[in-house]
Amino acid sequence: MTTQDVAGIPVVRSEDCLRHEPDGEVWLGVWEPGTEVPERVTAILAAVTAAGAAVMPARPHPDEALLAVHDPELVGHLRTIWAEWEAGGYAAEHGRQRVVPYVFPTAGLLAGLPMRSPAATHGRVGRFCYDTMTLVGPGSWEAIRAAADAALTAADLVASGERLAYALCRPPGHHVTASSYGGSCYLNNAAIAAQNLRGAGADRVAVVDIDAHHGNGTQAIFYDRPDVWYGSVHVDPGAGWFPHYVGYADEHGAGPGQDANRNLPLAPGTGDDAWLDAVGELCAAARGADAIVLSLGVDAAVADPESPLRVSADGYRRAGELIGALGPVVAVQEGGYDLPSLGQLVVSTLAGLAGA
Ligand SMILES: [Zn+2]
Repeated sequence: MTTQDVAGIPVVRSEDCLRHEPDGEVWLGVWEPGTEVPERVTAILAAVTAAGAAVMPARPHPDEALLAVHDPELVGHLRTIWAEWEAGGYAAEHGRQRVVPYVFPTAGLLAGLPMRSPAATHGRVGRFCYDTMTLVGPGSWEAIRAAADAALTAADLVASGERLAYALCRPPGHHVTASSYGGSCYLNNAAIAAQNLRGAGADRVAVVDIDAHHGNGTQAIFYDRPDVWYGSVHVDPGAGWFPHYVGYADEHGAGPGQDANRNLPLAPGTGDDAWLDAVGELCAAARGADAIVLSLGVDAAVADPESPLRVSADGYRRAGELIGALGPVVAVQEGGYDLPSLGQLVVSTLAGLAGA
């Protein structure tokens, strides 16, 4: 691959995306270092810059762009929860250095009764966060908001005629539903971008998700809509992988969105050939869309610590070629956690997208 392959591709980023310091995650009851670290952004930025991409700042967008796919209660919670946590003395007095939920209003707990807003800050967190590994700290909101602005800026570029734009989003977003966050994600950057493209005049948008994990949040947001198609290739949740409860092949969409959802779960250990077959199947189904949002997780790579898929950098390049042939693409960064190879995997994908 040569640097010309990605020369001039718009890469939208924000310094604020470095400010989110989850400081690890609580996984199975134990505080662990975690892999969704600020250094991910630094590694990707270094690689795309060296490859000649046109790095540009994210531009601020109004809250309406977030509220087009998310409940106002979720956005309000994310905006204020750290300040409430600090004011409540959880960090300084009680040694709880990050916002972690402990009680979850599952359907079984509510048993048909209406959702309430608990008075206690520590009781309220579980209303919005569905796992214990997606922590909030100082700077989190600024990064969350900046990641959404990066996705929106990239979508604006494509809406105004660019064939390809890449948003270096951190934190990632595809696990966030309209009202609930988790999976190291807080706002759904890809869904926000897709909705922005719809608003800019694209009649039909396709979200193609090649992150190693199923994008349960994006699927949920568009599940009953015919105007935004969602397709994902990912490690089979039925084989024991996150998000466990969602991401199965029999989830096809509902109501007016019937058949506008496609999941292709793959067995752990799957490498380039079967993975690219699945990407090709998604592309065949997505054909005809006016614009594509690519949920670009590079955690399906063989060296990645967060998934058992075994895709190569060349596999990512070829996936980029398949997806780039569909039409204009807004690529939104999702997962990818192997710091030494992360940047090259993104460059390979962008080169494929540009060369299509
Ligand atoms: Zn992932």
